[in-house]
Amino acid sequence: MKNNQIKRRAFLTSAVAAGAAAATFNFPMPAIASGKRQWKMVMTWQKVLPGLGTGAIRLAKRITDLSDGKLEIKVYGGGELVPAMGVFDAVSQGTAQMGHAAPYYWLGKSRGAAFFCGVPGGLTAQEQNGWLYFGGGKRLWDELYAQFGLIAFPAGNTGCQMGGWFNKEINSKNDLKGLKMRMPGLAGEVLTKLGGSAQVIPPQELFTAMQSGVIDALEWVGAWNDMSLGFHRVSKYYYGPAFQEGGPTLELMINKKEFDKLPKNLQKIVKVACAAENDVMMAEYHANNVRAFQSLKYKHKVDIRQYPADVLKAFFDTAKGVVADVANDGAIEKRIYESYEKYRKYSVDMAPYAELGFMKERKNG
Ligand code: CA
Repeated sequence: MKNNQIKRRAFLTSAVAAGAAAATFNFPMPAIASGKRQWKMVMTWQKVLPGLGTGAIRLAKRITDLSDGKLEIKVYGGGELVPAMGVFDAVSQGTAQMGHAAPYYWLGKSRGAAFFCGVPGGLTAQEQNGWLYFGGGKRLWDELYAQFGLIAFPAGNTGCQMGGWFNKEINSKNDLKGLKMRMPGLAGEVLTKLGGSAQVIPPQELFTAMQSGVIDALEWVGAWNDMSLGFHRVSKYYYGPAFQEGGPTLELMINKKEFDKLPKNLQKIVKVACAAENDVMMAEYHANNVRAFQSLKYKHKVDIRQYPADVLKAFFDTAKGVVADVANDGAIEKRIYESYEKYRKYSVDMAPYAELGFMKERKNG
C-alpha cells in the first residue's frame, strides 16, 4: 500500500471506532474541552465561621458566577480535604488549585509571610492595602510565594482586632508575667519576651481551654467572631486594642502553574473578585463588630477595658525588636521588612494629621 492509503485506512479505522464508542457510551465531553474548569478551594477556616469562612465561600461563588461557570470553584472547609494547616502545601503541590487562609500561618515556610498579613505593632487595614497595592508589597509577596509555586491576592481583612479575653486583671506589664495566653506567631514571641507563656490553640478548643483554666487569656478576632464563640461566658475582662494585628490581610493563594494556564479573562475575574472580597469582608467585619460590641457592652454587661498605657507601650516597644529580627532570616525577608518598615514610618508620620488625629477629636462626639 502507498503511504496515503495507509493513512486513509488508519483514519477510517479510528473514525469508525470513535463513532461506535460515542454511539454506545455517549461519552461526555471533557470539562476542559467545553471551556469549563472545576477547581478546588481549601481553607483554614470552617465553612460556618462568620466573616472568614463565609467570606471565602462568597469569593468562590463570585468567581464561579462572574466566569459564567467557566471557572467553577468547590469549597472545602478546614479539615475536609486537607488539614487546616495543610492548606499552603496542598495548593503548592497542586492537591487543590486554591486556598483561603492568613499568610501569617506560614511562618514555618518564611517568617517574611507575616508582613503580607499583619505583624505586631504593624499596619492598619487601610495602610496594609496601600503598601500591598501601591507600596511595593504585592511584588515582594509574589517573589516570596513564587519560591513555593504559588501566587496570592489580598482577599479579606478583619480590621483592627481586640486585645483579648482575660480571667486575670491586667493593671501593669508585671501582670503579663506567667500569663498563659493563646497568642500565636510573632505576637506570641512578644508575649514570651514580656514574661508570658504564649499558647497556640485552635479556635474550636479555645472556649473549653478558657473555661477549664488551661489558659488565663486568649485572643481571637473581635466582638463579632468572639461573641459567636461565647468567650464572654467564660471570661471576666475584654481588653483592647490588639497590639498583635491592626488589620490582617487574608489571602487567596493559587497554584501558580494552574493560574498561568488560565485564559487572561479568567485570571482577571479571579483578581477582581479577590479585590472585591478584600473590600467587602472588611466592611462586613466593621458593621458586625460595632453591633456585637453594643451587645457585649450593654446586654451582656461585659467588663470592657483598654489596656493600661504601660502595657500597650511594653507590647509595642517589644514588638519592634521581634519584627525587626525577621530581617535576619534571609535576603528576601530583609527586603520585605525594609519595604514594610519604610511604609509604616511614613504612615506613622502622617497619622496625627489623618485618621488618628480625626478619631482622637471625634471620641467625645
Ligand atoms: Ca487574632
